[in-house]
Amino acid sequence: MATFTQIAYIVAAILFILGIKLLGSAASARRGNLISSIGMLLAVVVTLLPKGESYPGLGYGWIALALAVGAAVGAVAAKRVQMTGMPELVALFNGFGGLASLLVGWAEYQRASNIFAKLRELSERTGGDPPDAPFFNLFVIALAVLIGGVTFTGSIIAWGKLSGKIKDIKIPSAKQLNMALLGSALPLAVLFGFAGDTGSGYPIFLVIVALALVVGVTGTSPIGGGDMPVVIALLNSYSGLAASAAGFAIENTVLVVAGCLVGASGLILTVIMCKAMNRTLGHVLFGSFGAASGSAGKEVEGEMRGISVEDAYYVLEAAESVVFVPGYGMAVAQAQHAVKELAAILEENGAEVRHAIHPVAGRMPGHMNVLLAEADVPYEQLCEMDEVNAIMPTVDVAIVIGANDVVNPSAGDDPSSPIYGMPIINVHEAKTVFALKRGKGAGFSGLQNALFFRDNCRMIYGDAKATVSSLVGQFGDD
Ligand code: NDP
Repeated sequence: MATFTQIAYIVAAILFILGIKLLGSAASARRGNLISSIGMLLAVVVTLLPKGESYPGLGYGWIALALAVGAAVGAVAAKRVQMTGMPELVALFNGFGGLASLLVGWAEYQRASNIFAKLRELSERTGGDPPDAPFFNLFVIALAVLIGGVTFTGSIIAWGKLSGKIKDIKIPSAKQLNMALLGSALPLAVLFGFAGDTGSGYPIFLVIVALALVVGVTGTSPIGGGDMPVVIALLNSYSGLAASAAGFAIENTVLVVAGCLVGASGLILTVIMCKAMNRTLGHVLFGSFGAASGSAGKEVEGEMRGISVEDAYYVLEAAESVVFVPGYGMAVAQAQHAVKELAAILEENGAEVRHAIHPVAGRMPGHMNVLLAEADVPYEQLCEMDEVNAIMPTVDVAIVIGANDVVNPSAGDDPSSPIYGMPIINVHEAKTVFALKRGKGAGFSGLQNALFFRDNCRMIYGDAKATVSSLVGQFGDD
């Protein structure tokens, strides 16, 4: 049985790695997801198969029931979620992963304590040396609980912020507080490893649990502005590390492998996100980044000027180069198919068309790529930020489709702005800008956007899909 289990774990690990490789491209991502899920099912079944026999009171019935409940909750949540709500769901799932690791660590501690208590009783009776729980096992239990706890409450706060249920909370001297809390949690984990399952061990364990839950809250709460993508990627990595530590605690190799894969890929994503936000990983890890500064940047003067769809059509009709800049609003409006239609018409009309994708546009990494791929936008029309910024002054019209923070020029010219330093798509350098949005609402960071007040910018108010469709209609009427 043990050999069969190990072979099954190796197969599962290969399926995980293959799945991650296939997730690297939009065309093969679905297959990658399916292959990884099959690997996970295999790992879960093989792990649980002998448990029904080891715990006769519980039996396979309970395991099957738990699997069915978990699968039903997952299926309903995934079916119901809108594309725009996906990041919240990811944050929640990260949180549950963290909670699971915390509970696994806790259960393993109870189990080990009971075994060692019995062994000590036995050695007292037989007069042998009383055994102690090994340091390494207890230390990894403490790590699973620590990282799992931070991931759990941190992800719940991130979920609350993404869904608008929790606003930025100001915690005085948050950086120092977090350093102090984490600084005491790590030595406590070592102390717990030595104290073991006797006397002072349990109170130390409970303090570690409490510290972890508090650090998750104090570490994530003050992070404001547009920095959430980095936090989500980092929490994702933490959930993997917690699972890996739990894997060491219960000596389950496939959990160690899966946890390491999630931890490493989450960390790579964090680094990519850091680059996109112009933050260093050190700033993220030591919690000194993006803390809500309380400043909303310089007050923008002037007024936003609107333009009718008819007048916008005349400008577009004469344009020789057009750049579309999609943002979160395109996802909300599901305007990607209409955008593709308008782009095709403009190309037919002789304009050079590009779609400029900012790495953190939308609410999750790759959000815009997924939407544009779904609408079959030709790959050669997609442009990265640096590439498009180089030609922006020569662009006749930049059409901003429900994007806001990622085109806010304050990021480049207002040092008092909380998003100062974040790279943006420089649409303000184009000859004309059309900004499509429903009203005067701010972006995710809650900041006013100086772009909308510039002389070369005109607002076209309304739902992005309706506006783009009207523009398509204007070309049709021609
Ligand atoms: P923003 O959230 O900054 O702005 C979106 C704009 O879309 C709003 O100003 C809104 O204005 C408009 N909008 C909403 N619905 C519609 C609609 N139906 N039709 C037309 N417009 C609409 O989006 P960006 O993509 O520019 O920036 C992304 C932000 O999210 C960044 O701050 C980023 O850091 C953050 N973020 C990104 C994550 C990622 O991984 N990519 C994860 C978490 C956060 P109005 O209400 O007036 O219509």
